Amino acid sequence: MEHREGRPLIDRVRLARTFYQRYGREPRLFRAPGRVNLIGEHTDYNDGFVLPMAIDRETVIAGAARDDRRVRVYSLNADEAVEFDLDHPGEKQRGIWLDYVEGVAQSLLGRGVRLKGADLAVLSDVPVGAGLSSSAALEVSAGLAFVSLSDQQLDRVTLALAGQQAEHVYVGTMCGIMDQFVAALGREGHALLIDCRSLEATLVPLDTSETAIVVCDTNVKHELSSSEYNARRAECERGVEMLREMMPGIRALRDVSVAEFAQHEERLPETIRRRCRHVVTENERTLSAARALQDGDLKEMGRLMYASHRSLRDDYEVSCRELDVLVEIAESLGGVVGARMTGGGFGGCTVNLVRREALGEFEQVVSREYTRATHLNPTIYVSEAGGGAKEIKDS
Ligand code: ADP
Ligand code: MG
Repeated sequence: MEHREGRPLIDRVRLARTFYQRYGREPRLFRAPGRVNLIGEHTDYNDGFVLPMAIDRETVIAGAARDDRRVRVYSLNADEAVEFDLDHPGEKQRGIWLDYVEGVAQSLLGRGVRLKGADLAVLSDVPVGAGLSSSAALEVSAGLAFVSLSDQQLDRVTLALAGQQAEHVYVGTMCGIMDQFVAALGREGHALLIDCRSLEATLVPLDTSETAIVVCDTNVKHELSSSEYNARRAECERGVEMLREMMPGIRALRDVSVAEFAQHEERLPETIRRRCRHVVTENERTLSAARALQDGDLKEMGRLMYASHRSLRDDYEVSCRELDVLVEIAESLGGVVGARMTGGGFGGCTVNLVRREALGEFEQVVSREYTRATHLNPTIYVSEAGGGAKEIKDS
C-alpha cells in the first residue's frame, strides 16, 4: 500500500538541481495537488454540488522568468523538453502534454494577465490517467508558476478557471470545474464543498485521525466512457426539458428537490427518470455528506457513500464490474465505513473510508479478492486531505 505520513512527497532538491543543470539558474518552486471526489458524482454539469478533497500527491514546477517571450518546459516524468512562444500560439489539441501547459498560458493571456516567458521543470507523483487528476495538478501548478514568475496577482478562482479553460480549448476535454478548483483551493484536513453553479466553495473539516481515506484504482478504463458521458449529459438535459412542463422555473436538475422529483417522476420515461433520480438524490446526499463531515459523523458519511454507489450503479449506470467488485469487497469488511466509485465511471477508482486499525487487513483482502475476481491488480493509495496550490518557500 502506498502510504506516506505527512512528509514532502516530491523531491524538491532533485527538481531544483535538475532545473539548475538544465537552465543554469536557481528556480522558484510551485505546487498543486491531485484530488479525489468523496461524493457528488455527475452532478457538476447539472449545476449541482461536489465534495472533493486535495490528496497529498502533487505536481511541483520549478521555474524562473525569462526576458523574452519563450517558454521552455521539461517534464522529468515524461523525460521530454518542449517549448513555445507566448505571442505565437501553437496548434491546439495536439494530444501531447504541452497542450496543458501552453493551454493554461494562453488562457491567462486571454484573461489579460501579463505573462513573461519562463523556463520550467515539472515533477509529479500524481499517477497519470488514474482518475486523481494529474491534468488539473499540472494546469494549476503551471498557472501559478506563470502568474508568480511574471510578478502578477491572480485570485484562486480565476486560476482554476484558466486551468479548466486550458482543458476545454487546448486539450479538448469538456471537464467540469471540480478538479481545478480543488487543486487551487484545497486545504489540509478539509474537503471542499463546491456549488458548481455559483462557484462558491466552502471548506469542510475532515477528521481522518481514526478513519483514513483510501483510493483503490481498478486499473481498468473501459472505452465507452466518453460516449456514455455525452449520452448522460443529453439525458439530463432532456429530463430538465420534460420537468420544466411541470416546474417552469427550473434551469437544471440542481433546481429540483427530492420531494419535487417524487411528485413528478411518473411523467418521465423510464431511463430518463432513473438518470434524473440519480442527480437529484446525489445533490441531496452531497449536502448531507458535508453536514455529516462538519459534525464529525463519518458513519453517516459512509452510509451516504454506499448509497451514492448504488445510485451510480443502478440509476445512472456508469459503474462497471471491477468497480462493483471493489465496493462489494470493501463493504464485506468490518473496518470499512463507506465505499463508492469516484470519478466518471467505467473504470478508474473507488474511494473508501477505512478505520485505521483495519488498514492492513483492507489492503490484504482487497488485493487478494480483487485479483481473484478480475485477474487484475488494484493500486491502493492512502491519502490525507492535502493543501491546494502554493509557492513552496521552505526548501
Ligand atoms: P488524469 O487527469 O486523470 O490523471 P488525464 O488524461 O486527464 O488523466 O491527464 C493525464 C495527462 O496529463 C497525461 O497524459 C499528460 O499529457 C499530462 N500530464 C500530467 N502530469 C504530467 C507530468 N508530470 N508531465 C507531463 N505530462 C503530464
Ligand atoms: Mg484529467
